[in-house]
Amino acid sequence: MSLVVFESLKQIHCAECRGGPLRRLVREAGVPRCLDCADLGHLVYLPRGDAALTRRAREASSLSAVVVRRHRRRRRYERQGLLVEDAALAHAERACLADAEARARRRERDRARRAAEDVRFTAAFAAEILRLFPGCPPERAQAIAAHASVRGSGRVGRTAAGRALDEQAVSVAVRAAVRHTDTEYDALLMSGVPRFTARARLAPLIDAVLDGWRTAA
Ligand SMILES: [Zn+2]
Repeated sequence: MSLVVFESLKQIHCAECRGGPLRRLVREAGVPRCLDCADLGHLVYLPRGDAALTRRAREASSLSAVVVRRHRRRRRYERQGLLVEDAALAHAERACLADAEARARRRERDRARRAAEDVRFTAAFAAEILRLFPGCPPERAQAIAAHASVRGSGRVGRTAAGRALDEQAVSVAVRAAVRHTDTEYDALLMSGVPRFTARARLAPLIDAVLDGWRTAA
């Protein structure tokens, strides 16, 4: 059971000090009083909207009051906010801030962990490329692996087969890299040659590069 403070737009005055009109008031046995006369004048107002802050402020405040306003059409009182002790609100704000900082630190740790995973995965991918294609220049293998493992790219390195370093998936990534880097495939596409025609035309050239890479240089 909490104390209730009413918001009012009516011309209501305090029964005790005659102050008013009162925007916020309490009713004791139907008699309106201002917050000062009701010994609530020292409390600060916290509008609703932040559930965690509200809960913490209420818990930390030895005295608090719910502020309500009557909604005429809905014919009911609706909660507007909370009156709490200044120190309790400050305490609650610090606690919520600490939470936000903890969440930010956790996100940073997750990000660093994923980055480390990506580095490890890219290295493993490059090693697998070099195992299958010992003649591939190491910097090319590294570049192909890095390109294939870009997070969120949907590229082969992010697929299940790629993650498992499936031989076929690794070969597909290498073949695609050769197609784009070592042939005029992209230029053919730009000049309007249909994709499958361009692929077919370049297949022997790509096979030759890959065959060359399959044996150590
Ligand atoms: Zn008063």
